[in-house]
Amino acid sequence: MKFHILTIFPEFFEGPFRHGVVARGVAAGVLSIQVHNLRDWTHDRHKSVDDRPFGGAEGMLLKPEPIFSAVETIWPERPAGAKVVLLSAQGRKFDQRTAREFSSASSLLFICGRYEGVDERVAEHLADEEISIGDYVLSGGELAAMVVIDSVARLLPGVVGNSDSTAFESFEATGHEEGLLDCPQYTRPADFRGWRVPEVLLSGNHEEIRKWRKSAARHKTARLRPDLLPADS
Ligand code: SAH
Repeated sequence: MKFHILTIFPEFFEGPFRHGVVARGVAAGVLSIQVHNLRDWTHDRHKSVDDRPFGGAEGMLLKPEPIFSAVETIWPERPAGAKVVLLSAQGRKFDQRTAREFSSASSLLFICGRYEGVDERVAEHLADEEISIGDYVLSGGELAAMVVIDSVARLLPGVVGNSDSTAFESFEATGHEEGLLDCPQYTRPADFRGWRVPEVLLSGNHEEIRKWRKSAARHKTARLRPDLLPADS
């Protein structure tokens, strides 16, 4: 799968993708990431990407022309199964279901906003999706693009070693229980500062362990994320 990122800060992406799961996916040839500098599609001496909002308002907006030119140069024709994703605080909220959905795209192109945002015509006429990573305002779309790419990359076959390790996780429909949080997990030592791991996990009784995990996942979800519990429980 190919990821494109359009940004005024290409250097932002130098660190995070050099490590861990995403780096492994790149090394294995399962995914590639290409970062494009939005200023390469400006034509004035100052390489200006922003301008003042019509109607008078605070701050500056990213102008439409360089963004449209960039996307139309990267994809003169939209490849089948490719999507343009605008990162925006006003977008549809990103979740694991959307990560799964994106993981079956052939290619994703992320537009990172800055300043007070992006001329709305980009959302209206260029982007297929307007996506928010949560109800808070970031200073740019770069961190949001990293969050989305990281969560999509680890779902691609061959990136995380065992596909069970992405199926049995928080929010997954195939998890210990549909769409709930993952259960608590423990590793050695079995006794750390007098805090013992639940005895059942040491029992070797797989059926009892399975039941304990299901119930622990449910309890943790009820405590921390009651919004994820089915309405009838
Ligand atoms: N004025 C806008 C916020 C602009 S923040 C508003 O009030 O809605 C500048 C840029 O940061 C946005 O264009 C977007 O690309 C990015 N951004 C901010 N919050 C985000 C969020 N929650 N999810 C995804 N991108 C976000």
